[in-house]
Amino acid sequence: MNINDIIGQGGVVEFLRTAHKQNRIASLYIFHGPPSVGKTTTAISFAAGVNCADNPGIGCGKCKICKKFLEINHPDLIIISPVDSSDPKQIEQHQSDMIEQQRWRINESPQSMIRIIQIRDLQEKLKFHRWSASRRFVVVVDAEKMRVETANAFLKTLEEPPVDTTIILVTSQLNSLLPTIISRAQLVKFNKLKPEQISEILHQKYSISLTQAEQAAKLGNGQLQKSLKFAIDEDLINFRLEIIESYLKKSTADFVKICPVRINQREQMMILLEFMNILNQDCMYIKLGLADKIVNYDFKQRLVDYVKKVDITKLIENNDILEQAYQSLNLFIDPVLIRDHLIGEIYEC
Ligand SMILES: [Zn+2]
Repeated sequence: MNINDIIGQGGVVEFLRTAHKQNRIASLYIFHGPPSVGKTTTAISFAAGVNCADNPGIGCGKCKICKKFLEINHPDLIIISPVDSSDPKQIEQHQSDMIEQQRWRINESPQSMIRIIQIRDLQEKLKFHRWSASRRFVVVVDAEKMRVETANAFLKTLEEPPVDTTIILVTSQLNSLLPTIISRAQLVKFNKLKPEQISEILHQKYSISLTQAEQAAKLGNGQLQKSLKFAIDEDLINFRLEIIESYLKKSTADFVKICPVRINQREQMMILLEFMNILNQDCMYIKLGLADKIVNYDFKQRLVDYVKKVDITKLIENNDILEQAYQSLNLFIDPVLIRDHLIGEIYEC
């Protein structure tokens, strides 16, 4: 793989390649945009491409340097991502887990953040000359997950990185970064991916069948990781099937069984609402004679039969009910109340 293989971010790739060609690589970038659209992957591919001798600026993907960079295992590529604690041993473990598991997000709990000790450690490393690459790269994943004091400790380094070193801050929440940091960086904006681009990635990179990839991409709403989960996570795949079954049968008992109402199940409840929303949209498409647009194509005939019994005004009303449920969940209203509201308004009428 090289930077040209990044899907759906043509403008960004062109911008970075031009910067390299014109020898104008900045010392500080902020890669920002929606979650899970390839920001960190692009940062790493860019680092590999800049240092590759066989295909400079793009990367050959095969040489020793490219491989080591892409496997995040080159001493001149430093990746920092949120950790659960400030314990140096755990941080060390976290760094080796990243290389071993080939992913940069290891801890994704609410308390995971970038710790001041990680920044101090980075500053120590940057005091030394780079190892062997022509340009050293530091990639900070989820850079918004930094306390103000950590960001302030980092500021000096961001203002004046060592020569031949580029720092890339990656974030999906640009406004959560300190304005003093934003003003010093070159901003690079990433786009939301289109469903067809996501299905292409799922198909090519993860060998998922095209029809399944297309469905997962639509369910994932522009987010690659989410779409990938919808394509391969058995629990989620079954969850969708159960929701559709309960919906088509209007079975309150089944819905109560599957509806995630515990306090730690907020994310699943969110997914349930998204699934129901897409299901309702599918019903509307069928009602409007656009059955070829539906996402839950594997239930097409049953949905067609179901829609015959439902009025379009009810489907529009359902749309509002689901939107309201979504907002209630965001306001931390008791999920049991939300569930009972859905039962009363959608299942029992
Ligand atoms: Zn190479």
